[in-house]
Amino acid sequence: MFDKVLIANRGEIALRIQRACKEMGIRTVAVHSTADEDAMHVRLADEAVCIGPPNAKESYLNISAILSAATISNADAIHPGYGFLSENADFAQMVEEHDFVFIGPSHEHIRLMGDKIAAKDAVKKAGIPVVPGSDGGVDNIADAKLIAKEIGYPVIIKATAGGGGRGMKVANNDSELEIALTTARSEAGSVFGNPEVYIEKFLTRPRHIEIQVLADNHGNVVHLGERDCSLQRRHQKVLEEAPSPALNRTQREEIGQIAAEAVKKIGYRSAGTIEFLYEDGGFYFIEMNTRLQVEHPITEMITGIDLVREMVRISNGAPLGYTQDDIKFSGHAIECRINAEDPETFMPCPGKVGIYHAPGGLGVRVDSGLYSGYSVPPHYDSMIAKLIVHGTNRNECLMRLRRALSEYVIDGLKTTIPLHQLLAVDPDIINGDYDIHWLEKFMERGK
Ligand code: ADP
Repeated sequence: MFDKVLIANRGEIALRIQRACKEMGIRTVAVHSTADEDAMHVRLADEAVCIGPPNAKESYLNISAILSAATISNADAIHPGYGFLSENADFAQMVEEHDFVFIGPSHEHIRLMGDKIAAKDAVKKAGIPVVPGSDGGVDNIADAKLIAKEIGYPVIIKATAGGGGRGMKVANNDSELEIALTTARSEAGSVFGNPEVYIEKFLTRPRHIEIQVLADNHGNVVHLGERDCSLQRRHQKVLEEAPSPALNRTQREEIGQIAAEAVKKIGYRSAGTIEFLYEDGGFYFIEMNTRLQVEHPITEMITGIDLVREMVRISNGAPLGYTQDDIKFSGHAIECRINAEDPETFMPCPGKVGIYHAPGGLGVRVDSGLYSGYSVPPHYDSMIAKLIVHGTNRNECLMRLRRALSEYVIDGLKTTIPLHQLLAVDPDIINGDYDIHWLEKFMERGK
């Protein structure tokens, strides 16, 4: 096993990875910007290396600084977490070329899945159903109109190199399509450095359901069931649950098996997530994430499997050591993403934490680097904590969520806890009756 792992990330996910490493007897190296000197991930690591100024481009995205930190600290392997460099195929390749182990998939698979058109094509060939749409990139309005006519309006234009829920445009008719195509291409060019876009049928009331997979280097693949991430704002997940209230056991087994078989055919290794939209009983692939997901804890809570530990073991060449039949799903889990934001306007509200009290008790997990007196820096993502609760069934889980939210005190900052409190008592949420557009409508109603 590795002696030392460098964690190329910050915040709660850096802590999360440290915890798994420590439990495996592996020493950890934190990297940090000058804005994060007092961060918990720096305090709890065995070693810490400052890699640059606050601006992420010069620190957490600075490949040469991270590789230098790995060299001087004599690390064996690098875990990228999520965000930052986690889906940067060049980074994964450079890590390996510098003789460190990249804790994740091969750079070839990261590259393949980062090109959304190539990804869609690859998984389709491996037996996964996809959203109807253009077979490749679309660069002129004549072709766009032909495709829209074939699949029917509304359609959505998406960037081939897209991510983070950005740069998507919906069109309801030919004239909207013309404007949407031009703006989507120019936005994709400026935001992602590649103007290529493709067209898909816009599903009007789907759920976002994703399957977690684990694959080792020896051809063993398992799926760990699904997560329902339909509660979204601006295509960004806000609250997730597992299992999905929309699926029954047969559907779960079917889609899980399709995902696992496709992953095996593609030859993927490590943890990965296949994201689907689910409407009227049909699953439609949207993308594969070749990294650990923010919402991975809900899967851990219902399966008892430590996903980070598994990623570390797999990258060290160990076999999974269990088969699909060994995986047992138990109870229900919900995760709330808590952001330092105004709960109504979603404007980021960084600042200094006053009194801090995290909830606890049976089935309650808080993944966060917050502490009393900590200053949330303004330079990074506004997510400051994840509250994860587990119960023997969905109702118990919701009761526990309300209880845990009521205990949570984060003074000095505006947070999205009040939003989660509203969600936890909403009749539609209680009934599991929501799709990807539900939260936006809910926010509109509240205005
Ligand atoms: P990103 O990589 O930017 O996150 P995704 O392809 O994963 O983009 O899509 C993110 C979200 O955008 C989905 O969860 C869903 O809410 C919405 N979306 C994407 N494709 C479609 C579609 N064809 N129809 C309706 N909504 C879509």
